[in-house]
Amino acid sequence: MTDPDPTLRPERLPEDFDRALRPQTLDDFIGQAEARANLRVFVQSARQRGEAMDHTLFHGPPGLGKTTLAQIMARELGVGFRMTSGPVLAKAGDLAAILTNLEARDVLFIDEIHRLNPAVEEVLYPALEDFELDLVIGEGPAARTVRIELQPFTLVGATTRLGLLTTPLRDRFGIPTRLQFYSVEELHRIVSGNAAKLGVETETEGAMEIARRARGTPRIAGRLLRRVVDFALVEGDGRITRALADGALTRLGVDALGLDGADRRYLRLIAEAYQGGPVGIETLSAALSESRDALEEVIEPFLLQQGLLQRTPRGRMLTQGGWRHIGLEPPRSDATGDLFGK
Ligand code: ADP
Repeated sequence: MTDPDPTLRPERLPEDFDRALRPQTLDDFIGQAEARANLRVFVQSARQRGEAMDHTLFHGPPGLGKTTLAQIMARELGVGFRMTSGPVLAKAGDLAAILTNLEARDVLFIDEIHRLNPAVEEVLYPALEDFELDLVIGEGPAARTVRIELQPFTLVGATTRLGLLTTPLRDRFGIPTRLQFYSVEELHRIVSGNAAKLGVETETEGAMEIARRARGTPRIAGRLLRRVVDFALVEGDGRITRALADGALTRLGVDALGLDGADRRYLRLIAEAYQGGPVGIETLSAALSESRDALEEVIEPFLLQQGLLQRTPRGRMLTQGGWRHIGLEPPRSDATGDLFGK
């Protein structure tokens, strides 16, 4: 129960490459109303001008639809889609090979763009601004630079950590877009739609139960749905009712808010070992044997959004809601006075 269950973590797993369930057009895409409305305008304008769309940056926690939106953009623009990721592009030459193969107005998607090697990033700047590539050929005194003209293209970058992007790279995106956690209603529509595509009969309240416990994240909603379908087939009559969804999710260790064992362990550590905080992220990372990145990218965003946790200059603190969620009473006066004083 305390081990992080990969089903409940929003990072990508091989089973997620379920193309049939991915929305294909901006109209099919549920939620992110503001981002969608803006993208529609930019796509339309680029099409009318017959030019490549401006470089776009999606940022927000994993599993909210950054890759999906990038694919949709390419489809709506009627251009090709190429996909790579920051850590994969080890050398400037790797990026050059991709860039020189792009066709006019193509979308190049770079996931985890905050993890680009600085040498690769340098090559990217002139490519983004002037659609030119400066490559150094040879070594030592014989080295020379050649300039290669590129086809105009659109870079779509995705990052879970906007703060780790260098300023020059950030400044080169004309359209930065923040993706938000989804509402329960939006997730309900996503779960119902996916269940229908899978041919599973779902009661409204059954889909609702999954939506409520999906941590505001479509990727998790998709996975929970698949697990609940397993229980419905093996232990039920194939239909997803509220009772069946509730029973299945509880057995998976997902609580009423959608928190799993790892989230509760995090909250309990702050409560029990540090009297509710403040406590530094490095200390928490060591105590939980989880990397700081995993805490900051995966566990904390949802706890912060739910108001269970607060970030202060002196470290992480539980809120009153955080204490109550793990079934403990918040300490009185002095300690909680800090909460609002700092
Ligand atoms: P990210 O790139 O932000 O990590 P993805 O684009 O890979 O997220 O989306 C994760 C999963 O959630 C995919 O399986 C996708 O089909 C699904 N998904 C994301 N957003 C939506 C949405 N608005 N409607 C339906 N399904 C979605």
